[in-house]
Amino acid sequence: MELKSTENWTSPMIKRIAHIGVVVRNLKLSETLFTKLLGKTANHTGFVEQQMAHLSFYPIGESSIELIESTRPAESGSSMAKFIEKRGEGIHHICLEVDDIRSEMIRLKGLGFQFVEDRPSPGGVGCIVAFIHPKSANGVLIELSQRV
Ligand code: ZN
Repeated sequence: MELKSTENWTSPMIKRIAHIGVVVRNLKLSETLFTKLLGKTANHTGFVEQQMAHLSFYPIGESSIELIESTRPAESGSSMAKFIEKRGEGIHHICLEVDDIRSEMIRLKGLGFQFVEDRPSPGGVGCIVAFIHPKSANGVLIELSQRV
């Protein structure tokens, strides 16, 4: 099969993979594991109220690995807790950094992508985020993030 250039389809507004989100059951244990694996400690840790989750970021080049531990049980409706109950620990989402999240949402909606929520909301560290529903992206939850 010959792969055709898709240059015309690339968006100048998508800049890089900001991070890959990994859900874990126990953040402390996972921090120990990833500190060993990567040979460095997390450069940022914190609690995001919007997501009711504790996060740890490990920078790797231009990107990071984000470890996420939900503080809510699955019965509370937490999508992260439900995810871990159904699929176990593992890769949860890919975050793409964009210049202008609102115009990128308009562009992607125009191409048929569905968003979990219609508007961007506050994300982790000085950014606003929006999630593309996995059912419109081959089962992959995609987070768009814009620095503010
Ligand atoms: Zn994320």
